[in-house]
Amino acid sequence: MYSLDDMIELRRKIHRNPEPGWCEFMTTAEIVGRLRQMGFNPLLGEKVINKDFIAGRNEKAVQASLERARAQGVSETILDEMNGYTGCAVIVETGRPGPVVAIRFDIDCVEVTESSSEDHKPVREGFVSQHPGCMHSCGHDGHLTMGVALCSWLQDNKDKLIGTIKVLFQPAEEGVRGARPMTESGILDDVDFFFGNHLGLGLETGIISSNPGLFLATTKLDATFIGKACHAGANPEQGKNALLAAATAAIAIHTIPRPVGPVSALNVGKLIAGEGRNVLAPNGFLQLEVRGETEKVNTFLREQAYERLEAAAAMYGCQVKIEKAGEATEFKPDPEAIALVDAAAIEVVGPENVMPLDLKLGSEDCTIMLKRVQQHGGLGTFIVFGSKIAAGHHQALFDFDENVLKIATDFYAHLLTRLNGRK
Ligand SMILES: [Zn+2]
Repeated sequence: MYSLDDMIELRRKIHRNPEPGWCEFMTTAEIVGRLRQMGFNPLLGEKVINKDFIAGRNEKAVQASLERARAQGVSETILDEMNGYTGCAVIVETGRPGPVVAIRFDIDCVEVTESSSEDHKPVREGFVSQHPGCMHSCGHDGHLTMGVALCSWLQDNKDKLIGTIKVLFQPAEEGVRGARPMTESGILDDVDFFFGNHLGLGLETGIISSNPGLFLATTKLDATFIGKACHAGANPEQGKNALLAAATAAIAIHTIPRPVGPVSALNVGKLIAGEGRNVLAPNGFLQLEVRGETEKVNTFLREQAYERLEAAAAMYGCQVKIEKAGEATEFKPDPEAIALVDAAAIEVVGPENVMPLDLKLGSEDCTIMLKRVQQHGGLGTFIVFGSKIAAGHHQALFDFDENVLKIATDFYAHLLTRLNGRK
């Protein structure tokens, strides 16, 4: 069983080597290596990722990260096993009938450059990110450490358990990209209980919540407009203006009427278009997102966005190619799963530190996994482990209280003893 010191060592090693979504080659190799050392036979590559459902994958970044992993000594054998797809999972079969429980930990970093200030603990203690532009500023280095530590507990205690326990290490949570392809591998289709988790989120160390509040369903879209260039002074009437199509779409999307009642949001966050002052712009590109408290609201906003993108393209005689870059669904935790989490959490941190929350958390692609489990008759929720943070999530000065690593692992040991303990 991992001690807190073992966990801190792993967390800091990963913190030094952050990798963004779909690029987690070193990270996956590190996790797999440790799991194999424990005697597990983790699944990786296309066994856990259905590549037909991959979204928001930047091939250039993937190749660069692969090269970096090679340069740092990650073996060709394990890279071959990944076959370009990061993430992995352990399935612990006890051989005794019992529930199938799955717990998901995400493993990717955020595209932020970490602070080099001496006030920042990772700088002072020598585990600051070695990769400019990449930083574990959301605590997923902590999440994957909890997952590995939980596997070490499972190895020590599997004789005392029944049923099946699946520990999922999901790539590309940032941008809500990785959950869909992992879910579509089928790994969750027989699961009775499902749990995802996040550390921090403004809660003090020692607090555990079985129901954090609101996650919004969301769809991320990339739209590429294709027009036709021509001389802006000599024959502008012969061109197709993709800049105006993109700009018109951006404004039109922000005029989509939003249903009264449920929470919703939308944003066009990026617009790039054109080639030069005297060229009729042949290209335009938008990044946008829609969000809704319910899947119904999100679908309405997404369909309206598609209509406006297509209408704006047609208005200027352009083509538009729309690609989904990420997605998450609504969050509907099950009361029975919440009660189970509360009971196990009380054993670890005491009743005064276990509470439902009312956080407004944006979106989490774990909701896709939970929904799949629920569609097959299973139950689940999302757990927040409080951990005092030095700065907000996704910021250059983010850091968290590492004591949460042990609290979370102890919690899961208690939860699994309740769900899968031999009577
Ligand atoms: Zn996160």
